[in-house]
Amino acid sequence: MNRFEDKVVIITGGGSGLGRAAAKQVAVEGGKLVLVDLNAKGLEESKQELLTVAPQAEIETIEANVANEEDVKKYVAFTVEKFGKIDGFFNNAGIEGKQNLTEDFGIEEFQRVVDINLNGVFYGMKHVLKVMKEQGQGSIVNTASVGGIRGVGNQSGYAASKHGVVGLTRNSGIEYGQFGVSIKAIAPGAILTPMVEGSLKQMGGDNWEEAGKEFVSVNPMKRFGKPEEVGYLVAFLLSNQADFINATVVPIDGGQSYKY
Ligand code: NAD
Repeated sequence: MNRFEDKVVIITGGGSGLGRAAAKQVAVEGGKLVLVDLNAKGLEESKQELLTVAPQAEIETIEANVANEEDVKKYVAFTVEKFGKIDGFFNNAGIEGKQNLTEDFGIEEFQRVVDINLNGVFYGMKHVLKVMKEQGQGSIVNTASVGGIRGVGNQSGYAASKHGVVGLTRNSGIEYGQFGVSIKAIAPGAILTPMVEGSLKQMGGDNWEEAGKEFVSVNPMKRFGKPEEVGYLVAFLLSNQADFINATVVPIDGGQSYKY
């Protein structure tokens, strides 16, 4: 398949995990990519990994903080100057934050998580949508979470921010459908990326791999999802094949969100 030939795709959080996995699929299918991340080393690693599977791919990287609107304007302007358009936007960078009871969560921590996971997604949509509306086409995939459609517990900032991402997706999808732009969210369950490894270490310390086994024992499929499984879904949702999927949330969680 070559669904991304002549297509330009921006991916935030492109220096790791789900962002990198989605970038790989887009690159393999001929897309031009702008990878955005705070982590310069992660960006370079992603670029090298993509070039091994798609040596002809055009890949730009840009260091930016999605929680800073000026940085967001910068990565959007950079993409338009370099490639002249934005066909797809995987609005994905995020953090998990602390795990504890709501009363202990901490106001600064709450603000930090919401700044990145929710405000960052809003800034990205605000500036990318302007370009897509003028083009009369485009697709945005926002990363929510099972924690954005169900109560998971011990994740006040994360739950609030990811439910907010779902709200933004529904609201803006309804606004922009008329301009040929579709907006969807994904709700991944536990996918084994560096973020989830970090959270298992918060729960299980040195025994984090055991904690991981226990964690997935309640999943109907008894395993973690793989980053590439999310990459395939995101590539589909960003492609023209999914143009009529709009203002909705697609879970990818082995069925877990229906079991809570
Ligand atoms: P990850 O930690 O592997 O990757 C996240 C990337 O985002 C990192 O490269 C990090 O540097 C970058 N990032 C963090 N804050 C940033 C900021 N302010 N500006 C720019 N870049 C920033 O994690 P992941 O698992 O790939 O997570 C990607 C997204 O998926 C997140 O929004 C996360 O909440 C969501 N998610 C993940 C899972 C999972 O199980 N892995 C489940 C549900 C949702």
